[in-house]
Amino acid sequence: MIPYARQEITAADIQAVEAVLRSDFLTQGPVVPRFEAAVAACCGASHAIAANSATSVLHLACRALGLGQGDCLWTSPITFVASANCALYCGAQVDFVDIDPRTYNLSPEALERKLAEAERMGRLPKIVVPVHLCGQSCDMAAIYALAQRYGFKIIEDASHAIGGRYQNEPIGNCRYSDITVFSFHPVKIITTGEGGMALTNNPELAERMALLRSHGITRDPDKMTHAPDGPWYYQQIDQGFNYRMTEFQAALGLSQMERLDAYVARRHELAKYYDAQLVDLPLTLPWQHPDCYSGRHLYVIRLQDKRAAASRQQLFSVLRQQGIGVNVHYIPVHTQPYYQNMGFKAGDFPNAERYYQGAISLPLYASLSNTQQERVIRALRICMA
Ligand SMILES: *Cc1c(COP(=O)(O)O)cnc(C)c1O
Repeated sequence: MIPYARQEITAADIQAVEAVLRSDFLTQGPVVPRFEAAVAACCGASHAIAANSATSVLHLACRALGLGQGDCLWTSPITFVASANCALYCGAQVDFVDIDPRTYNLSPEALERKLAEAERMGRLPKIVVPVHLCGQSCDMAAIYALAQRYGFKIIEDASHAIGGRYQNEPIGNCRYSDITVFSFHPVKIITTGEGGMALTNNPELAERMALLRSHGITRDPDKMTHAPDGPWYYQQIDQGFNYRMTEFQAALGLSQMERLDAYVARRHELAKYYDAQLVDLPLTLPWQHPDCYSGRHLYVIRLQDKRAAASRQQLFSVLRQQGIGVNVHYIPVHTQPYYQNMGFKAGDFPNAERYYQGAISLPLYASLSNTQQERVIRALRICMA
């Protein structure tokens, strides 16, 4: 099976992980801070907080921004459920903003309309989570301008987008957001097995996320209610979690960072080849905004005809039978039963639902060979003939 995505593990990666396994620290040692510093430097952010998943980081980010009961977080319906669930963890509510039909990202126009209405109703969101779908940045300048006007915070869910650029600057520099989140799940651009990272330029947010990552416990005397009882002393000053990343995960991530630019460049090469080879088929190919250099996490094609759902079903099955591990990203979150129970229903976000009908992700990852890609293209062309 050629999967839709997969990790690449090199001899250097294994050596880096092995060195940590033979060292004194498997957790809470020197490698996690080194990995954090490497990602922060690469992305041009001042602070980085690594954790055991992007889901955990989204939770930390919401908590650090003070999201709680009575608050609302808005995100795109075309994302992984984690982008929305982080609000529920905080006791807050979730709502969605429909997508742009060309980029499939959260639409700034739909956001503006929804904000104007929410302001009239006195129900403005506290946080908006733009998701850089497939690795292509959202229109962050427009979303940031709305944040200035309506006073919400921004968490970029850049789980797909490490190594990408927006307006010629690295995604993750937080120029237009409070916090940016990366995922290092094995299907993403670089991996730590499980893992995630938050980037921010705000030292207070960084400190709060670091505190909450490890039980809300501090060893900083300045943060304590009284002088330490002794050198062993710590204080719990908030209700935190154990969301720490291990040292060997960080070693893997640090080693993978060496190849980040090469990985994204190879993904672009593969995507360009799909573009060229599929252009004559009745498909909508991924459109790229001139402001964006995508991380190219996913290559999503869309079937155009009115029976997109039926033909997608058939195409999916035939390709899978032939060992092509296509997938679908994503089922609109508001159509999940758990969200339907909150009152969302089919028809709420028509552009997202239309997108979902015909979307299918083709295999795309840095170690996909040209021969494998040819096989995917051939199978797809035969199916669509
Ligand atoms: C993968 C992903 C997440 C969750 O990442 P984990 O590291 O698996 O927790 C969140 N949001 C998006 C958009 C993702 O693709």
